[in-house]
Amino acid sequence: MIEITDVRKSFGDKHAVDGISFRVEEGEIMGFLGPNGAGKSTTLNIITGYLSADSGTVRIDGTDILTDPLKAKKDIGFLPEIPPLYLEMTVIEYLNFVYDLKGCKLPRKQHLKEICEVVKIWDVGKRLIKNLSKGYRQRVGIAQALIGNPKVLIFDEPTIGLDPRQIIEIRNLIRMLGKEHTIILSTHILPEVQAVCDKIVVINKGTIVANEKTEDLINAVDGTRKLIAKIVGPEDEVLKTLRSLGGIKTADSIGKRDTDSISYLIESQDRVDIRKPLFYTLASKGWPLIGLEGVELSLEDIFIRLVGKEKPDNKKQRKAGN
Ligand code: ADP
Ligand code: MG
Repeated sequence: MIEITDVRKSFGDKHAVDGISFRVEEGEIMGFLGPNGAGKSTTLNIITGYLSADSGTVRIDGTDILTDPLKAKKDIGFLPEIPPLYLEMTVIEYLNFVYDLKGCKLPRKQHLKEICEVVKIWDVGKRLIKNLSKGYRQRVGIAQALIGNPKVLIFDEPTIGLDPRQIIEIRNLIRMLGKEHTIILSTHILPEVQAVCDKIVVINKGTIVANEKTEDLINAVDGTRKLIAKIVGPEDEVLKTLRSLGGIKTADSIGKRDTDSISYLIESQDRVDIRKPLFYTLASKGWPLIGLEGVELSLEDIFIRLVGKEKPDNKKQRKAGN
């Protein structure tokens, strides 16, 4: 549905986007992840035709954005980093304005009402945009992207500046829109993509450092596993035993006493499943293992490692990753 091939863009001698390629298939929600200044907005502005690339191609549902921009743009709804809202208009006036601007052919009243219901702004339709909260303004921004019912939706940092409750609401909205649309969601907030996206493309300094299914990314970057084990037994001896067990990289008491047990955070070595040896060893010592659960590697860890790998001169990030 979206096909980017070797896209480059410089501002002066700054290579904002330095030869990137990726595809998003129909119905996918792609997370576009990267730190500030990585090149996310530049890429999205090129995909949506707001900015022209120096070289490379962008195809939307087979249509080249340069050779047939009108057709390609009809398939795209875009929420830019700074939504183009007119603060002196009411919500309904603004949506009608965008409807005309896009030359939308769908039945006006019904279409706009449906959109307002989906993004839950029907009750503020008559209010001036300048009087709305940030969360509601962002919904109006999403509403304008939905006008014309485009196949592709592109959201540039849609949850920036929102409070935690608003973030969850916008996430749920995006997840729901993902059932009917192909979506690119850019963010520098890591749990966001984990919660919503089928696949993740990570960009850093204008180049792509990962392009994987969400769960594969977590496995690909690091094969170590973290487990929390609840064990009944003398803390010092348990720790000594854990640390001497093959396949275990680190073991630490995390001090949570649950009646007579203590919790330990255990990190296994790359691609080693230590659960069975752990069980038998503890059993042979007469220390009951009364709980064992996996701790998922956070995307934060993964991201820092990826960026660290790409940038071996960046000591700060490398340190944080180790
Ligand atoms: P992101 O959205 O990931 O934060 P951007 O795409 O906005 O990153 O920016 C990528 C790089 O390009 C940054 O170093 C930024 O300063 C630079 N840049 C972006 N737009 C312009 C511009 N119009 N003029 C000059 N430099 C720009
Ligand atoms: Mg940006």
